Amino acid sequence: LDLKNTDLKKLADLGQGNGGSVEKVEHLPTGTIMAKKIVLIDAKSSVRKQILRELQIMHECHSEYIISCYGSFLAEPNICICMEFMDKGSFDGIYRKIGAIPIDVVCLVAHSVLEGLTYLYDVHRIIHRDIKPSNILLNSEGSIKLCDFGVSGELINSIANTFVGTSVYMSPERIQGAEYSIKSDIWSLGITLIELATGRFPFCDTLEDDDDLSDLDEDHESNFDNEKYNKTPTHRDSTFGFNKKQGRRLSKNINLQEDSLSSMSIIELMHQIVREPAPRLGPQFEEEAEEFVDACLVKDPDERHSPKTLLEYRWMDDARDSTFNLQGWTSTF
Ligand code: ATP
Ligand code: MG
Repeated sequence: LDLKNTDLKKLADLGQGNGGSVEKVEHLPTGTIMAKKIVLIDAKSSVRKQILRELQIMHECHSEYIISCYGSFLAEPNICICMEFMDKGSFDGIYRKIGAIPIDVVCLVAHSVLEGLTYLYDVHRIIHRDIKPSNILLNSEGSIKLCDFGVSGELINSIANTFVGTSVYMSPERIQGAEYSIKSDIWSLGITLIELATGRFPFCDTLEDDDDLSDLDEDHESNFDNEKYNKTPTHRDSTFGFNKKQGRRLSKNINLQEDSLSSMSIIELMHQIVREPAPRLGPQFEEEAEEFVDACLVKDPDERHSPKTLLEYRWMDDARDSTFNLQGWTSTF
């Protein structure tokens, strides 16, 4: 498919992230509905071409657990990536709309993510690097798929908006500077599952209670663009804090109270992830689910299981044997 911007008609805005924005578009020559991701990049033309070459891998991903890609092209100064449109959006949006996700659905999410990670790694040697609710998509056929995986190192380096892949889903070893491994994705999956099952980000309490800003630089509050973030409550509402001194922007979209934004310390959270015991799903959930999430959130990456081993857990048998009507569930919201 030879994609050009002039053939794409914008139908709606789907959301905005740190790296860019996503639109629902129609490809006029074929009538195909697509999601177009627009990434503003800061790179010279040789690097841009390299990015496009790297993005080619996305075309070669054929799995029911991975978003398919129609193509990518340059539209200076942006790179556009056209992908499969998922009409129920991402799980962060879903739980914000309907509250905690039923555990039967969370079980299917866990299974799809593991299958997706296994496919990416076994077939393409790709590590996802950014597992979180906003990168897990659902459609009304009841398919759950991963998007935004780290195919392009050059793209990650060139994203103009200073986002450097630091997020609150980061594993303890990543926070401490270790290289990404497939095990880091498993930690992020564990945090994601707790967030979906309980309807809130697991470290919320710490963040809300923490009004000690002493370890942030003084101009933290003025750097924070309250106007922009607080006026668009459907997304960005809870992107928070960045410590300019470190040249790092740390962000996350979680359902925090708006007024707690000013009183939280992301640095403190990072310390906590490294120092404190990992969060847990909680005893209100079935034992199989708790056991699985505990396994994802083993703090030592060497002791943490790989996706393949986790697929052998009892809870994943439940996913494979599930009679839950996911397609029916998607029609309830
Ligand atoms: P971050 O930039 O921190 O990773 P994000 O994942 O929310 O955050 P984007 O990847 O730019 O940011 O996506 C923005 C929103 O667009 C997502 O939250 C999701 O709801 C929506 N979206 C992305 N891809 C698709 C798609 N293929 N189909 C439907 N909606 C999509
Ligand atoms: Mg995303």
